[in-house]
Amino acid sequence: MPRQKQKPYIGRFAPSPTGPVHFGTLIAALGSCLQAKNNNGRWLMRMEDVDTTRTVEGADTDILKTLESFGFEWHGDVTYQSKCTGVYQQVLDKLIEQSNRHASKQALVFPCICSRKQLTQTGSSIYPGTCRQRQLPETQDHALRLLAKDIDIRFSDIIMGEQSQNIQQDCGDFIIRRRDRLFAYQLAVVVDDARQGITEIVRGADLLDSTPRQIYLQQVLGYDTPAYCHLPLAVDASGSKISKSEGAASVDIKNKEELLCRALTFLGQDPPADLSDSDIDDIWQWASRNWNIDQIPRQNHVLV
Ligand code: GLU
Repeated sequence: MPRQKQKPYIGRFAPSPTGPVHFGTLIAALGSCLQAKNNNGRWLMRMEDVDTTRTVEGADTDILKTLESFGFEWHGDVTYQSKCTGVYQQVLDKLIEQSNRHASKQALVFPCICSRKQLTQTGSSIYPGTCRQRQLPETQDHALRLLAKDIDIRFSDIIMGEQSQNIQQDCGDFIIRRRDRLFAYQLAVVVDDARQGITEIVRGADLLDSTPRQIYLQQVLGYDTPAYCHLPLAVDASGSKISKSEGAASVDIKNKEELLCRALTFLGQDPPADLSDSDIDDIWQWASRNWNIDQIPRQNHVLV
């Protein structure tokens, strides 16, 4: 049988514009960019501003400028999820149509009117299926959930190894369009990754748990599943991820050489001690020549 031609590598970085670049953002950007370079691939930049309630004005430009001053270069124009709602709606319509075709069975997409308070009272983070029998369409304000079937989603993460999640037992029916009519991250990210032809996703391990839901959605929608590499996280002393929304300190571009070298060390790349005395182009050259994904540790690191 002729060997299947490998698709050209397309990677991406997808920050949410909720605050300035902090060390955790730098690590994820660096890991995904170097992995794309190493595969002679394209590296796309996507602003994940689908949740407009969390978007901070000007944060997108600030993130892009900071990344540029660190020497990052991406291919093509930056895309914005907030400008793609028409596409998400089309996909949602397709899912609803798919759901109606199977109306005799359990609906694949169903409206949910459970309040957060009601769900908290169940004492479990897994949706109990309360609204499963509701019929579409509903006039009352409601979220839309995707039915979680009793199937195991397995994937082999290039860094974190074998993963498995039962989408019904470990996750439950999940929201694809929120009550406030905003599209959920899970739907937007899956649609964007597919239409941009992303072949490998390199991102922080905080999203490892979301990946089975995304693969499930890809399967329901008939999309290909990309490869996944989840990077260890920079955490504080209590083990929580340092994040923009929690007000983590933004990176200081005056120390960009040192910070880039620290990010390389964080990713297990072992740069020479005096590399931070070099200029930013030389650091990129060293990093591109020496990048080895197998050296990335699995454990999160505490930042001191
Ligand atoms: N927008 C997400 C974040 O900033 C990343 C999502 C992803 O890479 O899939 O944490």
